[in-house]
Amino acid sequence: MIVLVINCGSSSVKYEIFQTQPEKSLASGLADRVAVNGGQQAALTHQRSSGQIHRREAEMPTYEVALSYIVKAITDPDYGVVGSLEEIEAVGHRVVHGGERFSASVLIDEEVLAAIAEFCELAPLHNPANLEGIYACQKHLPDVPQVAVFDTAFHQTIPPHAFIYGLPYEFYQEQGIRRYGFHGTSHRYITLRATEILKRRGVAPQDQRLVTCHLGNGCSITAVKGGKSVDTSLGFTPLEGLLMGTRCGDLDPAIVPYLISELDLSAEQVDDLLNTRSGLLGVSGVSSDMRDVWAAVTAGNRRARLAVDIFCYRIEKYIGAYAAVMGGLDAVVFTAGIGENDPEVRRRAVAGLQHLGLYLDKTANEDLSLNVQPVDISTPDSPARILVIPTDEELMIARDTAALLHTDHLS
Ligand code: ADP
Repeated sequence: MIVLVINCGSSSVKYEIFQTQPEKSLASGLADRVAVNGGQQAALTHQRSSGQIHRREAEMPTYEVALSYIVKAITDPDYGVVGSLEEIEAVGHRVVHGGERFSASVLIDEEVLAAIAEFCELAPLHNPANLEGIYACQKHLPDVPQVAVFDTAFHQTIPPHAFIYGLPYEFYQEQGIRRYGFHGTSHRYITLRATEILKRRGVAPQDQRLVTCHLGNGCSITAVKGGKSVDTSLGFTPLEGLLMGTRCGDLDPAIVPYLISELDLSAEQVDDLLNTRSGLLGVSGVSSDMRDVWAAVTAGNRRARLAVDIFCYRIEKYIGAYAAVMGGLDAVVFTAGIGENDPEVRRRAVAGLQHLGLYLDKTANEDLSLNVQPVDISTPDSPARILVIPTDEELMIARDTAALLHTDHLS
């Protein structure tokens, strides 16, 4: 079975095409600057898994046009990967917000489309683009079944005491204000992989207590008990919790009205400040990119050092909190750009947590060379494991899509 995975962002369309048996990525790519300034500077970069890269600049004023270039690239006789569009049997879409309605992936029909549209209010930057992607695929691949895989779904198992905020209850009932959590597809994927590893070490899946740390531009941390998310750091929107590239994470909510009344900022300006000018960027004054922040630390920049200190401290704090609510820990898992590539952040995040059974093997942590396989960076006798597992949200979407269509399962 051939599955096309689509991840439509606010100005880009990422895609990956998978064969399911045996499981294999055939090609992936990115249409960039779609619908920005009429799409005049848009470009498509298409890469076959064998390595060959094809780049094409073209006007892409809409997602539909972007998708027409994507399907052309996929079927191109020289650099494509399928002979014709008929070979594509299903499309899986990343959808950011599924509200309380979706706790698993679903086949897309009119009702599902209406629900995704309804949740645009909760995810105004993401769901409208996700919908555009679905419409574009319906146009170009009219008879192909489409599946929605939600970032929020994995967190629907979080109990009310962890998802209800301390506001008057009507705000939950009437406005839907609650913790939803995000990056669920990534947390689910690394949970599945970690579960296999712990099972081999004799911990039964229903007893496993994991803390999964997704540390990319956006960062989130999840407590996973018996394979189910029981708490997570991102909340009503992807702003709460850890320090992120440009997002502030945890904050005293009274700061918001203070900024509005004392500094005369509008609600939009505060929103922009907290989402795009805070985090590593705001504290360091250097960059939202961890590599740049480290370069500044090496050059003696104190604010950059402080930004890294805050970043690592919060991870440590959340691991401790989640270990407390799960009654202990069997493993901490690191993933995404920083989690997979930054040994110093990993070292600092667990350095003070030996009392929770986390003993880092310093050499394994430093020497880690990751491909697709998980790596255990704890000492052999560490009571709890410290794992680095490369995330693969696209593969998870392809697996869900194939499984829902009941034709064949990916391994
Ligand atoms: P996104 O959330 O956009 O998918 P990524 O998962 O790619 O982001 O993570 C981006 C972050 O990963 C950036 O802060 C980047 O600096 C960091 N990163 C990537 N490679 C490295 C590396 N080798 N060392 C440290 N940080 C890295």
